[in-house]
Amino acid sequence: MRDIYMDNSATTMVFPEVAALMNKIYTEDYGNPSSMHMKGITAERYIKDARASLAKSLKVSDKEIFFTSCGTESDNMAIIGYAKANARKGKHIITTAIEHPAVLNAMKELSEEGFRITYLGVNEEGIISLDELKDAITPETILVSIMHVNNEIGSVQPIDKIGELIKKINPDIAFHVDAVQSYGKFRIYPKKMNIDMLSVSGHKIHGPKGIGLLYINEKTKVKPIIFGGGQQNGMRSGTENVAGIAGMALASEMLYDKFDEDIAKLYELKKYLIDKVTSIEDVSVNGIPKDGTMGAPHVISVTVKGIRSEVMLHSLEESGVYVSAGSACSTHKRTPSATLTAIGLDKGSIESTIRFSLSIFNTKEDIDTAVSVLEKYVPMLRKYTRR
Ligand code: PLP
Repeated sequence: MRDIYMDNSATTMVFPEVAALMNKIYTEDYGNPSSMHMKGITAERYIKDARASLAKSLKVSDKEIFFTSCGTESDNMAIIGYAKANARKGKHIITTAIEHPAVLNAMKELSEEGFRITYLGVNEEGIISLDELKDAITPETILVSIMHVNNEIGSVQPIDKIGELIKKINPDIAFHVDAVQSYGKFRIYPKKMNIDMLSVSGHKIHGPKGIGLLYINEKTKVKPIIFGGGQQNGMRSGTENVAGIAGMALASEMLYDKFDEDIAKLYELKKYLIDKVTSIEDVSVNGIPKDGTMGAPHVISVTVKGIRSEVMLHSLEESGVYVSAGSACSTHKRTPSATLTAIGLDKGSIESTIRFSLSIFNTKEDIDTAVSVLEKYVPMLRKYTRR
């Protein structure tokens, strides 16, 4: 039985070309980039080239790219590092109720240190209101942190309009965007979109785990949150993850090289999945815009009324289909998903929601298999739960 992996918002398969490059770095070019000999210089060259390539993909300057250990660290560095550097300007921060725990828990930490946090709600499509954002901004506001693509339902915030609004009200307020689920799926240009800080993670883009990046506009003041040997201009100490950095840059190049073709394919697959799955009785998809657009190309949140997500997940797994229950990142806790709650789903629907997340390696046949499993099990399971 072939694996049908549809959990790409949790993590992705590393491109074989990326794994090969990383293997070369691990076994041949394994020098410490801070060493002064040839092996060190070779390692430093990988970092320099990767930084230039990633900066180019965002149309920013090389010196505005900082490497971290993951998306979570990038979010923490942006939010906590910025708050620490700018606390004397004000102690109010705005975010949304549907952020990833990497943002929500960084906010919680700051609130315990005396910052006031406003959490914007969303409509049933998972989108914030620009008017509510406008009303929430006060002279005390120093930072707005809003995710680009939501990891559970794939809603896409209008980050260009948000950036424009914030800067019109007060150019001094920094705008951070968690782009962990959107980098590689959208073209993102921070300078054009008024974004001061942007978080990206390697393992969501067919790169390795354990690597992330944070773009910081050169005019934005951020304090480091990790202290040590002074690497990366003292902003993020610690010996650089050379293989991870080079791997993430190659994965990004591979994605953006075939961008238009791949994204069109993903949208076609997403539409195919939605059409097929919603033809099953009492099955609905969450957070799809009513205006005919499709949200992010890869995430589909599906509620199968009356059947618990774990049961569906394991039925699918028996046929080699891998999906997740709500958000993979929140399965450690048994609290209901904040995103699904925020878009207005009731408890029963939240417990009956699974997430399909696609990659360019998926096919229509994969979707046929997944949907046929649901077609087979859903009536059976419903009969069982209704007895
Ligand atoms: N932000 C979002 C929107 C995510 O989906 C994730 C991971 O799922 C993260 C941040 C955390 O990234 P990482 O797993 O690299 O720490």
